[in-house]
Amino acid sequence: MKTYEEYYESLIKMKPNIYIGNEVVGRDDPRIKGGIHIVRETYDKAWDPKFEDLCTATSHITGEKINRFTHIHQTMEDLLKKQRMTRVLAHRVGGCIQRCMGIDALNAISVITYECDQALGTKYYENFVNFLKYFQENDLAASCASTDAKGDRSKRPSEQENPDAYLRIVETREDGIIVRGAKQCITNTPYVHEIIAVPCRLLFPEDNEYAVAFAIPADWEGVKLLVRPAYFHLPDEKIVPPEMLPETMKLGDCETFIIFDDVFIPNDRIFLNGQADPRQTPYGGFLALMFAHYHRHSYTGCKPAMTEVIASASALVAEYNGIQNKTHVRDKLAHLIGTAELVFAAGESSALHSEKSPSGTMIPDEILTNAGRRHAGEEIYNEFKILADLAGGLMATLPFLETFFNEEVGSLAMKYMQRNPRVKVENVLKCFKGIESIGCSDIAGLLQVAGLHGGGSPQMETIAMMGRYPLEKLKNIAKYLFGIKSKLHRYERSETPVTPRMLLEKFKKALIAKQKREQKT
Ligand SMILES: Cc1cc2nc3c(=O)[nH]c(=O)nc-3n(C[C@H](O)[C@H](O)[C@H](O)COP(=O)(O)OP(=O)(O)OC[C@H]3O[C@@H](n4cnc5c(N)ncnc54)[C@H](O)[C@@H]3O)c2cc1C
Repeated sequence: MKTYEEYYESLIKMKPNIYIGNEVVGRDDPRIKGGIHIVRETYDKAWDPKFEDLCTATSHITGEKINRFTHIHQTMEDLLKKQRMTRVLAHRVGGCIQRCMGIDALNAISVITYECDQALGTKYYENFVNFLKYFQENDLAASCASTDAKGDRSKRPSEQENPDAYLRIVETREDGIIVRGAKQCITNTPYVHEIIAVPCRLLFPEDNEYAVAFAIPADWEGVKLLVRPAYFHLPDEKIVPPEMLPETMKLGDCETFIIFDDVFIPNDRIFLNGQADPRQTPYGGFLALMFAHYHRHSYTGCKPAMTEVIASASALVAEYNGIQNKTHVRDKLAHLIGTAELVFAAGESSALHSEKSPSGTMIPDEILTNAGRRHAGEEIYNEFKILADLAGGLMATLPFLETFFNEEVGSLAMKYMQRNPRVKVENVLKCFKGIESIGCSDIAGLLQVAGLHGGGSPQMETIAMMGRYPLEKLKNIAKYLFGIKSKLHRYERSETPVTPRMLLEKFKKALIAKQKREQKT
């Protein structure tokens, strides 16, 4: 396992391929420091005895102790621990822990490459295992680049006017492939070692060139990172004492628009290359689905934490405002806490009802995962509304911290910050600055949209939840109750796990049936 210092050293050695505005910068640029500060937690806590049980695991390929952010879930317990780790770490950074995407992608790849090799005799799983070994031994962090530019949303990749609207293979060589395209909205890329690219939708036979998955270093030749950093205006240290700075103001995020400008991918880094036909080789679309699935399960860990951060700030500001015992405050806090607990419970339950795939990797239940993730997404703006309601307008209007230390107006400003007389005025100020940072800032806006769209738009979660839901069996309850059917067979939906593999099985059955039909004729 790496320490934070080793992680940071490895980062700053990387080639500068980060574009911020009109500049090209390296990994030491101050605007990306906040994101690095967040990922630091994932390295530090793996060495902390109080967090070790959640933040470390045993590698199933080497038997070595590894950081859980590099682990492939082998058991139900692994899924539960990943979810709990995500929750406790997300508390410490006010929201997104920013290291789950890479490992969610690797778990998905472990399932798909194995299935693909078994069916087609390819060597992708071997590539995957070799890469995983390297990833675990070096305790690497990764982005998952799934979301393509996508062009016209109503058209499939091969139907687009711009053939590069989805990342695609433009050339095949003996030693590898050349890919071209762009991935958008990709979190953490300027402060991770690797980019793992996977497709972002179901594909059809004409989409073969778009069925591509691989891993490459984030500073690889031809990879351009167009970065949108979110960070805080930090107060002048000569004016504001360091203890007055809320921890949340040290945090940050980077979202990246990645351009793959004819990038060479060596053969041993390829995990999928042209398997798009849903009836013959459905692995491209299946991989897109599987990454979204693991990522949505991670959301059942981080989203409850985000809601708890908002609930915690709401409860604190209510106390500081002197309204903590009012009934409407308790109702609003109950709503937040209830949402956090329900979303977490859905993720826990999806782990309890998980399925072991032929690769050995555990897959959480699809309906429970999506039910939890979807509920979280539906609630996100309501949660920020409760925080704004209880905090009042100051979270959006507070002067800079320096103003409170200005010789002329500082003490006057402090005087009018006093609310609940039992609370120190400095703490009131820190509370409102903290709430401004998590509730009314660049990052707060980003977390709201991430809460809605991360892991897929709400509609995509609905489709995933309903796609394999046994609706006909559900209707039998009403048929029995209304006397349309005389018997009701025992119905417990979650007793049989539903996972994206069911879709693959469906494809396989359709394929076998088709082959049988062809043999007959
Ligand atoms: C902060 C943040 C971080 C993110 N991090 C990552 C990351 O690390 N990696 C990654 O791969 N992605 C990431 N994403 C991207 C995220 O997964 C996407 O935003 C999400 O999948 C929605 O895709 P989109 O943004 O292209 O929106 P669209 O897909 O364009 O959605 C816009 C609307 O169009 C609808 N729509 C789209 N297609 C159709 C259709 N064919 N028929 C009907 N309706 C349709 C959608 O349902 C939605 O209502 C991140 C997003 C955010 C906001």
